[in-house]
Amino acid sequence: MSNLIRGISENGGAVLCAIDSTAIVREMERVHKTSAVTSAALGRLLTGAAMMATYLKSEDNTLTVRVKGGGPAGTVLAVANGRGEVKGYVENPVVEIPPRADGHLDVGGAVGCDGTLSVVQDIGMKEPYVGQVPLVSGEIAEDITSYYAVSQQTPTVCALGVLVNPDLSIRRAGGYMLQLLPGATEEEITRLEKNIAAMPAVTTFLEEERPLTDIMEMVLDGFNPNILDEQEVVYRCDCSKERVERALLSMSRDELQKLADEDPNVEVCCQFCDKVWQLDAHELLAEKDAQ
Ligand SMILES: [Zn+2]
Repeated sequence: MSNLIRGISENGGAVLCAIDSTAIVREMERVHKTSAVTSAALGRLLTGAAMMATYLKSEDNTLTVRVKGGGPAGTVLAVANGRGEVKGYVENPVVEIPPRADGHLDVGGAVGCDGTLSVVQDIGMKEPYVGQVPLVSGEIAEDITSYYAVSQQTPTVCALGVLVNPDLSIRRAGGYMLQLLPGATEEEITRLEKNIAAMPAVTTFLEEERPLTDIMEMVLDGFNPNILDEQEVVYRCDCSKERVERALLSMSRDELQKLADEDPNVEVCCQFCDKVWQLDAHELLAEKDAQ
């Protein structure tokens, strides 16, 4: 079953993406053992990145979204590819701060808003495409909206939600993103704004176990939307021994020699999936010399 859908208005002027990212965020929480507010922060970013990646043209293209806001959570980072795989990490997985006055988790407080959201798209060109905007609030959805408005000149509405149970397990997670293509009339924009204003929280939709198409029908009410495509998005890390080797071989020979002298059994922990890779520093040195 697909957990991400994209729909398009009959006139082709508005594209809506909606995702149920509950399983993705649950896997993230299992790997990183995040506290409630960091589950929400990284969960929202993974959800947003999964939707942003639907614009990648090829399976091998990747998109990296980095949020650095100066808050106690540190850097929050998500990587998504054209195959429907996402992964991510938060620098400090356990942050305990009081909820906001309205009872919601204080994601903006954990992330901070003194910094930037940057997007690196590796689309197979020599140089990756890089865009960066100052953070609006550190609440993630507003920051992604701002990225599209400022860096891409694409009017966008982004909504993201993560519900965390008292025992820190993930109850629901999801989001939607509406983007307008050039040429939308004032009348159409007013109608869409009205539709968006009437939307309940995305997690409310999921709590009621309503299909993602309901989100599409409601956001694009009056625009006769059709499903454009569907996708299954999963949390998956693509690390391998070869990749870890390549990363280590980019060190200088002196640095590798130092590793070999200290302890030839090198352990490298993947920051996305916590898998520990074991390598032999002497083999790495031999490899380096053969290059
Ligand atoms: Zn990994």
